[in-house]
Amino acid sequence: MSKPTPLVNMQVPWEEALRAVVGPEALLTDPEKLMVYECDALTLEKKIPQAVVLPASVEEVAEVVRICAVHKLPIIPRGAGTSLSGAVLAVDGGITICLSRMQKVLEVDFENRRALVEAGCVNAWITRAVQSKGLFYAPDPSSQFACTLGGNVATNSGGPHTLKYGVTTNHVLGYEMVLPDGEIVWLGTTPDGGEDQDGLDLRGAGIGSEGMFGIVTRVLVKLVPKPQVFKTFLAVFETVEDASRTVGDIIKAGIVPGALEMMDQLITRAIEEAYHFGFPLDAGALLIIELDGAEAGMDAQVQQVEAICNQNEAREIRLAQSEEERTQLWKCRKRAFGAIGRISPNYLTQDGVVPRSKLPAIMDFIRQTSEKVGLRIPNVFHAGDGNIHPLILFDERDPDEVKRAVQAGEEILEKCLEMGGSVSGEHGIGVEKVDFMAKQFTKADLQAMLDVRQVFDPEQRCNPDKMFPTSKRCADFMIRKQAPA
Ligand SMILES: Cc1cc2nc3c(=O)[nH]c(=O)nc-3n(C[C@H](O)[C@H](O)[C@H](O)COP(=O)(O)OP(=O)(O)OC[C@H]3O[C@@H](n4cnc5c(N)ncnc54)[C@H](O)[C@@H]3O)c2cc1C
Repeated sequence: MSKPTPLVNMQVPWEEALRAVVGPEALLTDPEKLMVYECDALTLEKKIPQAVVLPASVEEVAEVVRICAVHKLPIIPRGAGTSLSGAVLAVDGGITICLSRMQKVLEVDFENRRALVEAGCVNAWITRAVQSKGLFYAPDPSSQFACTLGGNVATNSGGPHTLKYGVTTNHVLGYEMVLPDGEIVWLGTTPDGGEDQDGLDLRGAGIGSEGMFGIVTRVLVKLVPKPQVFKTFLAVFETVEDASRTVGDIIKAGIVPGALEMMDQLITRAIEEAYHFGFPLDAGALLIIELDGAEAGMDAQVQQVEAICNQNEAREIRLAQSEEERTQLWKCRKRAFGAIGRISPNYLTQDGVVPRSKLPAIMDFIRQTSEKVGLRIPNVFHAGDGNIHPLILFDERDPDEVKRAVQAGEEILEKCLEMGGSVSGEHGIGVEKVDFMAKQFTKADLQAMLDVRQVFDPEQRCNPDKMFPTSKRCADFMIRKQAPA
């Protein structure tokens, strides 16, 4: 632990101390400027923090954190604010520490296929820095052109290619973290270390901890060789059921595609209207099936996938004919949420998981829920993982629509649990799903998780009121509780 500086002192007002550390430009206290930080991509929940600091180095982060510790201020780590679960909400006020000035790819070790990046580095920039050498960073959230590695570590992000390549934890060797008392630690493999670490996997414990263990400042990631060949299909089906059966049959056949994504009719129409790819507007569901790997044996897999699609009544199977067409297809898929802006003022994204065999049943339940609450619910999701993303469309100016949207989301998540699934595949719990934690876990499970959190953050000041139902004010804060009856 480094020696406290004169600024780490109760007698120095926190605002003055923070300004001295990061400079006047990097401390925001104006209510107008703070509004940018009042929420993340879950726009139902809003609260402005007391201040936002934008440090430029790990030393600045540590000093900011020590000042907040001495003043007992909550600290809220923030990357790009693309979380969909209210994970960066300043529920009880506090200081948002935003990593967006720390965004460099610091070092690339091509020989050992690793990269060291600052936590504010945008996910897609890693691949951009290494692709000339035939490498890429595999976890690819659809938000990858905005979201940061710090946010990815904190939420253990997945993405379309998670099915084959795994999630963030499978690609992070180690990371530097500033603990809530200002100590700087390294968890897992250090930049000059070997592959394996002895002892407890504290690296793993922090991945998915939703900013409650400390502020991640640097991340050491694995790089993966780019596959020799990609075969990317767009398979068109009359019904969601046919498409869902195809997903199960592909996996049952022992094929592990790089990605296996589904889009229903409503989302396809929105995407087509926005990006003009040439999707059929009357199809019940589309699958994007991407096979990747070695050239040898690929033709046989292509034939197998085509046969499975045909057995399940595929109306049409289009194989991307060029890299440009493949890129275009993925652009449309990854910008699907953006297309919603054309058809609805607001949307609430859910993130449940069901066993793959239950996909037809959950999709049917979503359709019934949509009819019941009188709101449209398009679907675009990681079908191969059973990870659904119903997008519940509403207008936040109408309190009754807000209430019905929240109700629909809750009923869908309840159903996921009933089907043996879970309430989050990749977006995390944040404030949004706090109430569900007690439904998914036993008291003993939750206590064990809290005990681990306590080790890192004994005062529970780091991103408070997230994930755990014990958080004192969370339930009162939720907008759904305030919506008129
Ligand atoms: C259009 C869209 C598509 C998306 N698609 C996907 C997807 O395919 N897969 C997926 O997994 N997610 C997806 N997301 C959700 C979101 O992008 C991810 O959760 C992402 O990892 C958040 O990164 P961020 O930098 O925006 O973090 P933020 O939203 O700023 O923060 C998210 C959480 O991480 C914590 N955090 C952020 N930075 C740090 C840090 N340096 N140290 C410690 N904690 C930190 C925050 O406290 C918070 O708990 C999507 C979101 C949108 C809007």
